[in-house]
Amino acid sequence: MAHTTAELEELLMQRSLTDTQLQAAAAAAPDFRILPEATVIKIGGQSVIDRGRAAVYPLVEEIVAARKQHKLLIGTGAGTRARHLYSIAAGLNLPAGVLAQLGASVADQNAAMLGSLLAQYGISTVDGAGLAALPLYLAEVSAVIFSGMPPYKLWMRPPADGVLPPYRTDAGCFLLAEQFGCKAMIYVKDENGLYTANPKTSKNPTFIPKISVDEMKSAGLHDSILEFPVLDLLKSAQHVRQVQVVNGLVPGNLTRALAGEHVGTIITAN
Ligand code: ADP
Ligand code: MG
Repeated sequence: MAHTTAELEELLMQRSLTDTQLQAAAAAAPDFRILPEATVIKIGGQSVIDRGRAAVYPLVEEIVAARKQHKLLIGTGAGTRARHLYSIAAGLNLPAGVLAQLGASVADQNAAMLGSLLAQYGISTVDGAGLAALPLYLAEVSAVIFSGMPPYKLWMRPPADGVLPPYRTDAGCFLLAEQFGCKAMIYVKDENGLYTANPKTSKNPTFIPKISVDEMKSAGLHDSILEFPVLDLLKSAQHVRQVQVVNGLVPGNLTRALAGEHVGTIITAN
């Protein structure tokens, strides 16, 4: 059903903002993507950056080569330093919003390091990825680094249990990809993709090349290789209807994923 702006405006004046008819009218406009050519890549904190040079240098080389063909928004994870901070802060009984800020500071550190390695290629680290200059960076040098934590800070929605911020860098990178209507979302981690169980702690788990959000949940894998809120964000996404998880410790994997090859695990919205 086509709605005119006047109809929508009338509904907005009269109804609750969660009214079904109003929501349908508000969603009736044709698809619009802000950065449809860009791909968001998340470089894992614990899984990649914490391994230092051996893991990071080869990825830097791949990124430098890949930006000749691709537009890259590169987000950083946090990792072990954040976990250390979380353990201290949780021990002090501090709330999720404070832990979110602490975690963000570690993702910032990783963005600063990655940005330093890429500086000689003209690739900059932006402070807050929603920054107005982002399209300009992409147009000029085809890549930009950002800190992956979503900027909820003290307004981080607290989890049902405990104080660990549920929306961390997997979620932050996904939300950016979705809001910008990006072409793809690739998670660079340290395992070949999703398995039937954590390969670090279980013997001979089976590799899963492709799976949907619902299948992942019914297999009890909702909290495994990605932060669990990402699955629901993916399921209800308008633009980014699948994500790919690749092993960044294997040279060439990121390049292949960017080329549209099915390396690693593809998780689909449905
Ligand atoms: P990041 O560095 O991006 O934060 P994480 O370390 O949080 O990445 O997540 C990747 C890790 O998830 C892998 O190293 C792996 O040990 C773990 N993991 C847990 N369950 C699974 C699973 N079923 N399949 C693959 N990896 C899993
Ligand atoms: Mg993680």
